[in-house]
Amino acid sequence: MQRILVLPGDGIGPEIVNEALKVLDRVAELEGMDLEIDEGLIGGAAYDAVGHPYPEATRVMAREADAILLGAVGGPQYEALERELRPERGLLGIRSDLGLFANLRPAILYPQLASASTLRPEVVAGLDLLIVRELTGDIYFGHPRGIELRDGERVGFNTAVYSESEIERIARVGFEAAMKRDRRLCSVDKANVLEVSELWREVVIRVGEEYPEVELSHMYVDNAAMQLVRAPKQFDVMVTGNIFGDILSDAAAMLTGSIGMLPSASMNATGAGLYEPIHGSAPDIAGQDKANPIATVLSVAMMLRHSLGQEEGARRIEAAVGRVLDQGLRTADIQSEGCTLVGGKAMGDALVAALN
Ligand code: NAD
Repeated sequence: MQRILVLPGDGIGPEIVNEALKVLDRVAELEGMDLEIDEGLIGGAAYDAVGHPYPEATRVMAREADAILLGAVGGPQYEALERELRPERGLLGIRSDLGLFANLRPAILYPQLASASTLRPEVVAGLDLLIVRELTGDIYFGHPRGIELRDGERVGFNTAVYSESEIERIARVGFEAAMKRDRRLCSVDKANVLEVSELWREVVIRVGEEYPEVELSHMYVDNAAMQLVRAPKQFDVMVTGNIFGDILSDAAAMLTGSIGMLPSASMNATGAGLYEPIHGSAPDIAGQDKANPIATVLSVAMMLRHSLGQEEGARRIEAAVGRVLDQGLRTADIQSEGCTLVGGKAMGDALVAALN
């Protein structure tokens, strides 16, 4: 039996997770999987219920799970909370608690959606890139950090920090991923300005000596942002730090036409993983049945593939997404002329039906 922990979270989180679970239930039935599915609290929902965004009960269940499926966290009603109690702290907490240091974010443009991209179809059609983002270090976790009084005014400060071993292990994930794909790895940094990036580049080059089959290149983050929108198909795998990866992966997401289509996996050294859509809790559309559940459904596919050893189930889900797009069904975020606009629930039902 395999244990899955489900953390719906806030905003559209519960809606999209609900649709993804309908798909998972049906796949489990079709593939004869033996799954135990538990549900837990995280983010603002956890704060509302028990006063903390990452409660002890969730921590215990997360450590025992083979894989975790998360919706999204956050919302305007939590913005006034002190930093340690904000929903995002729950997410940062679970990532660091489980040692989820590697974030894999594919950006694939489904041919059926080529016109949904803001870029010309010939620039993006057939796009298939993978961003490997370091997830537990960098300026998001570095010390010292804070806001303090200096010379009569408040000063805010954070520290970007990476150790050699942290860079080495994420570089290795990047090279290994490239080995399974087109064997091209682009390391993104800001080595012309930041010492932390200087070390990053040095260590990536050193690790690269172990992967002579992989063509390694380096790019400054500002150029990488430009190249991503100019000629995104030049990339196979990109590896980068936490904050650069945060920003670049959202840009890559937009290339595909919808943030509502993209899954992600965050893995630790043991193969356990946290699977979540790359988008946030979308409070602007929460509760209106407008949210696209496909990113979460594809996160389930990644979960089956990377943590549960169920490749067949993963493929079944991915094929169902293609089939539903072929049928012309679209949620509002990916709607285009001539297609049928559906809500999140109807999209979930269509995906379940397309699994057979
Ligand atoms: P967002 O990703 O929630 O939304 C950005 C835009 O994309 C919105 O217009 C939204 O309606 C749309 N969108 C997002 N997901 C969609 C989906 N599945 N289907 C259709 N449209 C979708 O980002 P934001 O608005 O900057 O942040 C909202 C909240 O989410 C904030 O509290 C933020 O902190 C939080 N957040 C959480 C995560 C996470 O849980 N991993 C990630 C990013 C932001």
